[in-house]
Amino acid sequence: MRALIVSDIHGNLEALGAVLSDARRQGPVDEVWCLGDVVGYGPDPGACVDLMASQGAAAVAGNHDLAAVGVIGLGDFNPHAAEAAQWAGEQLNEVQRAYLRGLPRILERAPFTLVHGSLRDPVWDYFEPSSMSLHQMAEAFQIQKTPFCLVGQSHVPLVCVERGLRFGLLQEGDLLLETDTRLVVNPGSVGQPRDGDPRASYLLYEAEGRRLLHRRIAYDVAAVQSKMRRVGLPEPLAARLGVGA
Ligand code: ZN
Repeated sequence: MRALIVSDIHGNLEALGAVLSDARRQGPVDEVWCLGDVVGYGPDPGACVDLMASQGAAAVAGNHDLAAVGVIGLGDFNPHAAEAAQWAGEQLNEVQRAYLRGLPRILERAPFTLVHGSLRDPVWDYFEPSSMSLHQMAEAFQIQKTPFCLVGQSHVPLVCVERGLRFGLLQEGDLLLETDTRLVVNPGSVGQPRDGDPRASYLLYEAEGRRLLHRRIAYDVAAVQSKMRRVGLPEPLAARLGVGA
């Protein structure tokens, strides 16, 4: 079984398309898992929702998904994020809105649990040392029933080992999974990377070899930026795609 793991697509259809093609070039993809934020920021929210739905993705809700369809308010968003989430919501048809409204907050796909933020706060936590205290991270690990937890939200590919709460940037290539080493892993963002590398970031899980493969793939950033400018999304959101920040 091979699963494609994507997160934080953010309405970036070009990046999502590049990831799907690249993943299939590596071999057959049996399942697609999505860690939330299909919409928000980017210019193609509806098409990205349709694509995830057509893949039968095992998907959890992100804060931008819930805000776009009015399940949560925009009060905790910065002004550009709020403007983009509201715009995304206006572009969606009823079927797409119902899809986002129906997303669960937590899903289990053994040996993984899927969540957008963390198991402590599925919608809002950022599982990284600058945002959560050691106590809060330990709390999240205590709730975690599976050996591994996949999270999104920070847009930075990271791995955290429960023992010692040690963090590392996820490098391109293989990560072998051992069930006695409990982990939280962030695949990075498909549609708006923030680790200084503008290429789309994603993971492939190969159940047989018990390994995660981290890949980065270039896509047509300029095409997405010009779409964003054409529909009047905030300029800083377009500019940041070029630098991956
Ligand atoms: Zn996000």
